[in-house]
Amino acid sequence: MLPRALILVIGPVLLIGGCYFLTVGRSEASAEKQSGSSRPPAEFDVGELERVSGEGLAKPEPAKQPSSRPSIARQCDQRARQLSRYLAEGHRIIVRPPYILAGDLSEEELEYHYTETILPTVRALQLAYFDAPLDEPITLLLFSSERAYRDAANTLDRRDTTNYYGYYIRSDRRIVINIGTGAGTLSHELAHALGHFDFPNMPEWFDEGLASIYEEAVFTDDGLQLVGVSNWRLNHLLSAMQNRKLQTLDTLIVARKIRPERQEIDYAHSRYFCLFLQERGLLPFFYRKFRANVKTDPSGHRTLCEIFDTPTLDPIDRDFRKWVIELYQQVRNQNR
Ligand SMILES: [Zn+2]
Repeated sequence: MLPRALILVIGPVLLIGGCYFLTVGRSEASAEKQSGSSRPPAEFDVGELERVSGEGLAKPEPAKQPSSRPSIARQCDQRARQLSRYLAEGHRIIVRPPYILAGDLSEEELEYHYTETILPTVRALQLAYFDAPLDEPITLLLFSSERAYRDAANTLDRRDTTNYYGYYIRSDRRIVINIGTGAGTLSHELAHALGHFDFPNMPEWFDEGLASIYEEAVFTDDGLQLVGVSNWRLNHLLSAMQNRKLQTLDTLIVARKIRPERQEIDYAHSRYFCLFLQERGLLPFFYRKFRANVKTDPSGHRTLCEIFDTPTLDPIDRDFRKWVIELYQQVRNQNR
């Protein structure tokens, strides 16, 4: 369906001429069950991440030669034109290179999320971690309700989103979220999208740990840093520790992947280990050092050992578990 309202958006694009045509592809996605600060999500239990293959929205063929690649504005216009073919009538699109925002929100609401969440979050995360230029479009599909999100995910990607609020499709550089759950979901997926440009072979444990920090985070007063804070995932971590189901830090990191059957625990483990690094002022340092070392240290294990000047991760694991208990006590005291 081509919404009539999108004609104005598409019109200028027709002038571009469609220099290159489209392939259909969706190779990888991550999906999160998560919440914004206003929503306690402990009742949601399944399906935090998946990396899948299959068909999805069309995307432009990557230009073979950098010199022949259209400008980012042209790429965004072209993506907007493609997108308009798939969105339901009445959905809106705004183009703010390198971003294309669309969904069942008004243009004013899309603009609000662009200025109030996307720009400040990207700025803070780029200062802390990301150096690669955003030289391809990032598409963000924002839906106002569970139903609209679910319908769109089903129509666009044939996905069942029952158990999570957002996902990122790597091959399309496309985020799809239920923005009704809060800005935290958007920040989490944005971290994936930015990390994909900057550190594309980041192992899954770190990709999810880093991104999930920002599902619950606060800006410093100067707006330059985004600081992750504790959230509902602490309950999953504590429960795993109490039930002796928490694997060692060494196992989590060397495995690189989140275990599908233990997603809740592994997400919490990864997130809180990243918070542990953040609290020591080591998280951006680890990110950059790991990114530099990744060819010879694909899991990050060796980089962590070097940073902490230890031959194994065992002493870090002990300190981490102790810190988790102390953090839990702090949180409990604050909530009294
Ligand atoms: Zn994620």
